Amino acid sequence: MFSKILIANRGEIALRILRACREMGIRTVAVHSTADSDAMHVRLADEAVCIGPASSRDSYLNIAAILSAATITGAEAIHPGYGFLSENADFAELVEAHGMVFIGPTAEHIRMMGDKITAKTTMDALGVPLVAGSDGALANIEEAREVAARVGYPILIKAAAGGGGRGMKVAQDESELAEAWSVARTEARAAFGNDEVYLEKYLNRPRHIELQIMGDMHGNVVHFGERDCSLQRRHQKLLEEAGSPVITEEQRNQIGHTVVEALAKMGYRNAGTLEFLYQDGQFCFIEMNTRLQVEHPVTEMVCSVDLVREQIRVAAGEKLSYRQSDIKVQGHAIECRINAEDPQTFAPNPGEVKMFHAPGGLGVRMDSALFAGYKIPPYYDSMVAKLIVHAPTRDEAIARMKRALHECVVEGVKTVIPLHEKILDDPEFRAGEYTIHWLENFVARQGGK
Ligand code: ADP
Repeated sequence: MFSKILIANRGEIALRILRACREMGIRTVAVHSTADSDAMHVRLADEAVCIGPASSRDSYLNIAAILSAATITGAEAIHPGYGFLSENADFAELVEAHGMVFIGPTAEHIRMMGDKITAKTTMDALGVPLVAGSDGALANIEEAREVAARVGYPILIKAAAGGGGRGMKVAQDESELAEAWSVARTEARAAFGNDEVYLEKYLNRPRHIELQIMGDMHGNVVHFGERDCSLQRRHQKLLEEAGSPVITEEQRNQIGHTVVEALAKMGYRNAGTLEFLYQDGQFCFIEMNTRLQVEHPVTEMVCSVDLVREQIRVAAGEKLSYRQSDIKVQGHAIECRINAEDPQTFAPNPGEVKMFHAPGGLGVRMDSALFAGYKIPPYYDSMVAKLIVHAPTRDEAIARMKRALHECVVEGVKTVIPLHEKILDDPEFRAGEYTIHWLENFVARQGGK
């Protein structure tokens, strides 16, 4: 096992990794920008190294500075968390070239899944169900027209290098195809420097359901059930649940089995998430994230597992601690992302947190790096806390989340807590009846944007 790990991240996820390390008796090295000198991850780590100025490009994305920090502190492994360098295959390769372990999958698998066309063709060949669409990149608009006619409108033109919903355009019918084609390509070229696009049938009322998996270096792969992340605004998830209110145990076992078989054939190791759109009883793979996800705690709560500990163990060459038959989904978990944003306009609202009180009690978990007096810097993501609850049933989990939100105090900055409270009271949400479009409509009904 490693004796020292460098955590190449900040905020709540740096703390999450640090906590796993401390419980495992592993020393930690925090890295931070000048804007984060005072941050909680810096205070709690055994050692801390300043890696650059406030801008992420010069600090948390500064590969040379992070590798130097790891070298001088004698770290044996680097955990990238999520975001920043977590899905950067070159970084993973460089970490290994410097004689350290990258806590994640191989650079080859990161690269493969980073290109959505390769990801889809790989999964297709391994028997994972996909959304109907083009077999790969589209050569020209004529080909797009042919594929669209075959799968039927509406369709979606998507960027091969896509991320964050950019380079993605819907065409409701053939008259809209030319524009969708050129706008998606222009956006993709501007955002990713790659204008390769592909086509998918546009599903009009899907849910976003994803499967958590983990593999070791000995050919074992397991899944930890699904998360329902349909509640999104501008492709940003806001509230997640495990399990999904619409998935039966039989469906979970079935898709889980398909996915585990596929990833075992690939030789995939460490944590990963397969994202699906789910409509009319069908799962359609859209992409795979080769890292730990923000919403991993809901899975941890229902499966009683520590996914970060497991990531570290398998990266050190140990076998998975679980066989598939050991993993049971019990009860229901919900996560509310608490962003320092105006709850109606979603404008970021950084500033000083005057008072902070984290909720507690049975079945309540707060993953946050906040403290009273902390100045939320304006340079990074506005998510400042994740509130997670676990209860025997979904109804009890909703009641528990309402009670926990009521206890939560964050003064000095605006947060989206009032929006979460409204969602939890909504009859459609409470009935579990929502698709990926539900939240935007709900926000519009509240007079927000
Ligand atoms: P990105 O990597 O840019 O986030 P994804 O492929 O994950 O792109 O898609 C982002 C979101 O766009 C999905 O969560 C879903 O809300 C929507 N979406 C993607 N593909 C489709 C589709 N074929 N039909 C309907 N909605 C889609």
